[in-house]
Amino acid sequence: AKARGKNRLVLYADGMAQAAQEKIVLLEDLAGATSAGQFEVHYQPTIDLSSGTTTGYEALLRWHHPTRGLVLPAEFIPLAEEGGHIVEIGRWVLVEAARQAAAWSAQAGRPIGMAVNLSPRQLADDDVVATVRAALDGSGLPARQLTLEVTEGVLMHDVDQVVGQLLALRALGVRIAIDDFGTGYSSLSYLRRLPADIVKIDRSFVQDLGSGGRSTTLVASIIELARSLNLDVVAEGVETPEQQAVLGRLACSHVQGYLFGRPQPADAQTPPGLGPVAA
Ligand code: C2E
Ligand code: CA
Ligand code: CA
Ligand code: CA
Repeated sequence: AKARGKNRLVLYADGMAQAAQEKIVLLEDLAGATSAGQFEVHYQPTIDLSSGTTTGYEALLRWHHPTRGLVLPAEFIPLAEEGGHIVEIGRWVLVEAARQAAAWSAQAGRPIGMAVNLSPRQLADDDVVATVRAALDGSGLPARQLTLEVTEGVLMHDVDQVVGQLLALRALGVRIAIDDFGTGYSSLSYLRRLPADIVKIDRSFVQDLGSGGRSTTLVASIIELARSLNLDVVAEGVETPEQQAVLGRLACSHVQGYLFGRPQPADAQTPPGLGPVAA
């Protein structure tokens, strides 16, 4: 038993070394990925629940790695954040997503919104306001059609600096969404500290809707709270008609989820306003 225990320890140590090695390789690959054209933005629709119309999209990044194939953000965003590559990658996403929203708006003949995720490191970057302004100017997208999504993770950096950046971004006319709302330790306190226009109810609450637990009450409270603070609400991760029905009864204004559309490349989307409306 002792020998086996020892073996396992060795295996474990090997596994650790291998994981560390892989991480170093991926970090190196990330450095060249933007200029090599390996990133692609996928878009997931946001729907106005009462009318069923697509009001906009969220940009979700995909990495086509030359040997590993498709790598999802859960794997590379933390690395890009750690290594600092996220600033350059995020700039590319902003330009690309703003351009796409402007093109869709022109096609649809009505304003199509675009939401872009900003990680803590991006928001802490001194150039973020200039970066956003350049993406808007370059695309001609009106600022009010752009939403920047942040999580409470941004509060791990200097809070005054972060709040200052968010205020400067808002002064451009863009909207700020608090992503994954309800999952942090202190959602209420960051709602108080962060200037925001939208709360996005985390998928974990939405998934439990209608199952008889407390989620319905919690979601109802979040929607009520948002309303009293004059914030818009988006419920994330809606997968079933039952969840949609409960959200409808709670008068949730906007929804997103596989039920209405999965994240897909721009050319795989039905151009908004031209084709049938999702769901
Ligand atoms: P997020 O911002 O909370 O995005 C929602 C995630 O839920 C996306 O995963 C989306 O594909 C997935 N999703 C949407 N609807 C459903 C549903 O009905 N059911 C289920 N099970 N999942 C659903 P994804 O695309 O893998 O992105 C994961 C996270 O990576 C995002 O979470 C966001 O935090 C981050 N991320 C993605 N793109 C970017 C980016 O361009 N920049 C930064 N900084 N972060 C990004
Ligand atoms: Ca998001
Ligand atoms: Ca989210
Ligand atoms: Ca998330």
